[in-house]
Amino acid sequence: MDLREFKGKEVVIKIDYAICGGAGECADVCPSDVFEIIEGKAAATNVDECIECCSCVEVCPVDAILHSSCD
Ligand code: SF4
Ligand code: SF4
Repeated sequence: MDLREFKGKEVVIKIDYAICGGAGECADVCPSDVFEIIEGKAAATNVDECIECCSCVEVCPVDAILHSSCD
């Protein structure tokens, strides 16, 4: 596990860089453009735009995303 933490004012998103494949499913599904793909890994660079819909957690094929508002 290689968790990278993206901490916003109300939300924390952690992404396991050991398993993120970087295909960008999270970026495609996110309605708030929270994610970008940097050097082949997802980065939640706009975490403060998150509306806590949990779609990114659900769509990730390898369960690499841990979200403070989503189980
Ligand atoms: S919970 Fe929803 S709004 Fe927040 S980062 Fe994930 S997909 Fe985007
Ligand atoms: S959906 Fe999961 S594996 Fe795909 S880019 Fe996002 S965090 Fe990485």
